[in-house]
Amino acid sequence: MGSLPFTVSDLQTSVSGVRSNPTLLCTPLMGTTVEQMLTEMRKAKEIGADIVEIRLDCLRNFSPAQDLQILIKQSPLPTLVTYRPIWEGGQYEGDENKRQDALRLAMELGASYIDVELEVAHEFNNSIYGKKPQNFKVIVSSHNFHNTPSTEAIGNLVARIQASGADIVKIATTALDITDVARVLQVTVHSQVPTIAIVMGERGLISRLLSPKFGGYLTYGALEAGAISAPGQPTAKDLLDLYNFRLVKPDTKVYGIIGKPVGHSKSPLLFNAAFKKVGLNAVYVHLLVDDVEKFFNTYSAPDFISGCSCTIPHKEVAIKCMDTIDPIARKIGAINNIVRKPDGKLTAFNTDYIGAIEAIEDGLRESNGSSPAVGSPLAGKLFVVLGAGGAGKSLAYGAKEKGARVVVANRTFERAKDLADKVGGQALTLAEIENFHPEEGMILANTTSVGMKPKINDTPIPKHALKHYSLVFDAIYTPKDTRLLREAKESGKIIVYGTEMLIRQGFEQYKNFTGLPAPEELFRELMSKHA
Ligand code: NAP
Repeated sequence: MGSLPFTVSDLQTSVSGVRSNPTLLCTPLMGTTVEQMLTEMRKAKEIGADIVEIRLDCLRNFSPAQDLQILIKQSPLPTLVTYRPIWEGGQYEGDENKRQDALRLAMELGASYIDVELEVAHEFNNSIYGKKPQNFKVIVSSHNFHNTPSTEAIGNLVARIQASGADIVKIATTALDITDVARVLQVTVHSQVPTIAIVMGERGLISRLLSPKFGGYLTYGALEAGAISAPGQPTAKDLLDLYNFRLVKPDTKVYGIIGKPVGHSKSPLLFNAAFKKVGLNAVYVHLLVDDVEKFFNTYSAPDFISGCSCTIPHKEVAIKCMDTIDPIARKIGAINNIVRKPDGKLTAFNTDYIGAIEAIEDGLRESNGSSPAVGSPLAGKLFVVLGAGGAGKSLAYGAKEKGARVVVANRTFERAKDLADKVGGQALTLAEIENFHPEEGMILANTTSVGMKPKINDTPIPKHALKHYSLVFDAIYTPKDTRLLREAKESGKIIVYGTEMLIRQGFEQYKNFTGLPAPEELFRELMSKHA
């Protein structure tokens, strides 16, 4: 890696349980009865929220004098009271005067915050002029459920909200692209008034996760996954436990995984747990990216984005945005790991091939007791790759690099031929593999999806043909124990699991990101717990 991307100053002084930023975590309460809301507010406190938002418009049969008294007085956390009308995305359809009366009453009964819509903010603020209790604050909000306007339009909107007498500005727009978030942050980071900036939708997730980095006053975290009050809202638990929300600071380095879809990725779990354990001032987020070029052009700061993992469908197209590429990754034609060097340049790697090949080498070494110093145990071996897709390319180039003789067998022969020609090997159809045994002690690497869930009874090669191999690797990791690996084990062969490739490619990514060795035990523990 050359220079270390992390220095002593990147080490967090704070560890678990300590907060490094003043950004508040607010949990919206969406119960339809007072009883439900009381239960929800206790849960919110248990999870670790700082504030609860009482959404009066969710209550059925709301009777202001009685219900507000109970809700505000019995809340174990400070309260933010919102009574969102239907014309601003809420559920209240009744009389406007009554709505504002309820908000004024909430203020008198001790609510810490009232959220009032920009459209009526002047009128509302005039009505409470000189009557505001000490420490009580008015949030003036504006919601755009369609898009995110230009930087200039956002700037004007923030100015209008400030001019309405807001103590706290809140703008919520909708992300059509992840780069929309940049425009909102660009404006709000310079706001003179405390600001809540939310970009709704999955593409806007980083506006919520990174709000402490950009000085946000507050962000919202749902009580549970099904109880969100706006699109793209994470749960409070995920904000705290998965994304280390309390540890994010203005100088925190941002890493993430770019892909589409990306929400299923477990990488944030692994990397954030590792960053926290080691005490690195870094966070790793899900990044739903449509256009990689636009993404890298927009987020080009050294701390944002400091590096990322890259998954489908960007592994090939992202190459054109890189300044340098690992030579084997270039040959493979796919990258999955991108690091921004201290000079700002983007460097890419393919850690898939490293992870898979290392796992296979270690499998061979364990069986013959050889040490890594002796060189690769793959040198000179006949290495049969089943499949010629992304994983097939990684294995074929990786094996070739280690001095193995490579054979590629694929259902579509042309693809096998193409890859075999590139690595200077032989091509076969998958059907030919049953009777292919030019020598004994070969290595077999399955990279086809044959045997993957849900077709777990399929296998790419008959059991009897396995006798010519010494080691069998399967890239498939769902399930971990594929039929191929079970039969190889029954035949007395060394087996290497696809989960090893998966986890080891993660170790490599961590090393590339941080310049430090990966906390391997922690990664393994988390993977087995969350697989
Ligand atoms: P890919 O690029 O789509 O390639 C799929 C390969 O499987 C092609 O060679 C394809 O042959 C072959 N194939 C698909 N269905 C087949 C069938 N019914 N019969 C015979 N061959 C078939 O996918 P990939 O990204 O390389 O992934 C392949 C497998 O590796 C998946 O199971 C994936 O989960 C796994 N993988 C694991 C890791 C890890 O970390 N363990 C990493 C990457 C991938 P054709 O060319 O004829 O279509």
